[in-house]
Amino acid sequence: MKFNNENLIRGSKGLAVEELQIRLAGFRGTTWDGDFGPGTELQVITFQKEYMQLEEPTGVVDQKVFEALENFAREFPVNFDKLKCPCGECEGFGKGQFKNQYREGKPEIEAYHLFEYPGIHKAILQSYRAAQSYAKDPDFGPPFLTSGYRCHVNNKNKDRKSTNHMGKALDCDFVLKEGEDKRDDANRCDKFRGQLVEQANFQIGWNGRNKKSLEPSNIAPTWIHMDVRSFSKQYLQEKYFVTTEQELDSNDL
Ligand SMILES: [Zn+2]
Ligand SMILES: [Zn+2]
Repeated sequence: MKFNNENLIRGSKGLAVEELQIRLAGFRGTTWDGDFGPGTELQVITFQKEYMQLEEPTGVVDQKVFEALENFAREFPVNFDKLKCPCGECEGFGKGQFKNQYREGKPEIEAYHLFEYPGIHKAILQSYRAAQSYAKDPDFGPPFLTSGYRCHVNNKNKDRKSTNHMGKALDCDFVLKEGEDKRDDANRCDKFRGQLVEQANFQIGWNGRNKKSLEPSNIAPTWIHMDVRSFSKQYLQEKYFVTTEQELDSNDL
């Protein structure tokens, strides 16, 4: 599916809308269901306001918005080398093991899903791009990626059970400024989480269905962890997981 020259507006439907909803995952964000409703319109308005700096956002995706989406992707690149699993045994994004298998004795919910998804979810990558744009605020400075994919081999090496990082999550952090300590780091991460809740419609924790999640500060005190673990299966189809920036920006679903 490619964006063509047709405007997208409230009521539009289909794969181009789905792609749009994912591209704008970090601007408020809604579910990527291919149905351009009020949630999608709010995404477009937020993007027009925050990124395009339009004084009178229209909520309509026209040629200017398509161009801005391209510029946005170019301005905030995603370095996939930094996202690869460090285990040394997989190619960087697991081996596709354990689809529809769940941690022993646990219910069939995503938190216990053992599947090594085939890449990183596009919505989390696009959210990271938006995070980079929000972090332009000098209080933060540019974020850098600290963790992406972690397959079962890596989990075993690290004695870790969580499968969150098997394609559904990434971690980033900010550089400490001169004279700062861990507490400053923690304060900055707290503040940034607040901003992501407000601007990108993240939730802290995993209670709400179909919302992007941030790990709370008691789990991730000095870094930012974002994931799509709370989404239903239809939003975690394999087609949403990518292993290169080219794939991320290809418009193909
Ligand atoms: Zn690995
Ligand atoms: Zn994490």
